[in-house]
Amino acid sequence: MNKAIFLDRDGVINKERGDYNYHLEDFVLNDIAEPLLEFQKRGYLLIVISNQSGISKGIYTHEQVDYLHLHLERVLKNKGITLTEIYYCPHHPDVTNCLCRKPDSLMLEKAMARFNIDPAASYFIGDALRDEAAGKKAGVKTILIEPNSSLMKVLALVA
Ligand SMILES: [Mg+2]
Ligand SMILES: [Zn+2]
Repeated sequence: MNKAIFLDRDGVINKERGDYNYHLEDFVLNDIAEPLLEFQKRGYLLIVISNQSGISKGIYTHEQVDYLHLHLERVLKNKGITLTEIYYCPHHPDVTNCLCRKPDSLMLEKAMARFNIDPAASYFIGDALRDEAAGKKAGVKTILIEPNSSLMKVLALVA
């Protein structure tokens, strides 16, 4: 089986600004390159798990999110980092109920089934309690960080 580091997006991968991130100029990466490379060297798949309810609310579109994600994958690829997959939930309970929006765990479960991931050997790194809750529900270890803090500190917490 594989092992994975699941990563929240806003506040972990890129700057949490307290507002929706759907423009390239607002999408500023946090200090992630070196730690992600190290996780990859340790044999972890890297998978992003993100709530993007702005789609459901009509604030931005799937196309805008996909464009940002292509950009993210390209920037990381240039640093030798491969994201195995990016999952996002476009729903918001005011508009549509679903099982994918964190703190629910369907995105993690889909990823684990698709990529044959052992939850007991995997981690969810997030900056919000709903990330932690989703990780726990999926049976992975959880690491809660301060929004926009360096992932370097997390290296010592991951086997
Ligand atoms: Mg976040
Ligand atoms: Zn959803």
